[in-house]
Amino acid sequence: MYAQALNAVLERLAAAARDAGRPLPRLLAVSKTQPATAVAEMASALRASIPPGASAAGLACAPAFGENYVQEALAKQSALASETLEWHLIGHLQSNKAREAAAAFDWVQTVDRDKLVAALARHRPAGLPPLNVLVQVNIDDESSKHGCAPEEVPALAAAVAAQPRLLLRGLMAIPAPHPDPGRRRDAFARMKALFDALAGQYPQVDTLSMGMSDDIELAVAEGATMVRVGTALFGARGK
Ligand SMILES: *Cc1c(COP(=O)(O)O)cnc(C)c1O
Repeated sequence: MYAQALNAVLERLAAAARDAGRPLPRLLAVSKTQPATAVAEMASALRASIPPGASAAGLACAPAFGENYVQEALAKQSALASETLEWHLIGHLQSNKAREAAAAFDWVQTVDRDKLVAALARHRPAGLPPLNVLVQVNIDDESSKHGCAPEEVPALAAAVAAQPRLLLRGLMAIPAPHPDPGRRRDAFARMKALFDALAGQYPQVDTLSMGMSDDIELAVAEGATMVRVGTALFGARGK
């Protein structure tokens, strides 16, 4: 049932990448508020969308899903335990949930303070590979938003990189939903500059997570390597 929506998103991504002369970004399906049955259906649509033998642009990886709340993700993970899926935490993480998050997710995209770095490293179970980490940046300096200030990225990235149980993969941002697309594009461009500086310093840094349903073209044009898409894949969430 999701094949059509998925194809539309994949076509938008392919066109944006082609226009910008950039590689195809990885698609993270944002499944917050969606039931486990919807995740299972989207996972099979994602698998079916990969041409046999393709290894392009991360499409050959396990289907990846983004969740905002630890408890909601845990419930879906146990319902979908028989499937090979990759789980990303994209919502704000409270320190008292770090233990559960460190065990339940493959990626945490919302690391924005030292305390969280230490807690995730301490609680990442020994039997699992290092936890993939993105540093979340409050790129528009919104007081309402989580994320570290752009100036704090080098120190926080160094703290992550110093932890053997964590793997620093890059940066994530949720720019302000400014009505002027030029302003949003400018925020994406500032993220790309931060990302390039970080990637120059750490060879393992390969991920710039930015762009959602309404602005994947702008984000890809400025160099997103991963886009997080909910509404355009699953339909409107209802409030
Ligand atoms: C909900 C959410 C998304 C997806 O937003 P859509 O507009 O539905 O595509 C992406 N990133 C984060 C952090 C979110 O919370």
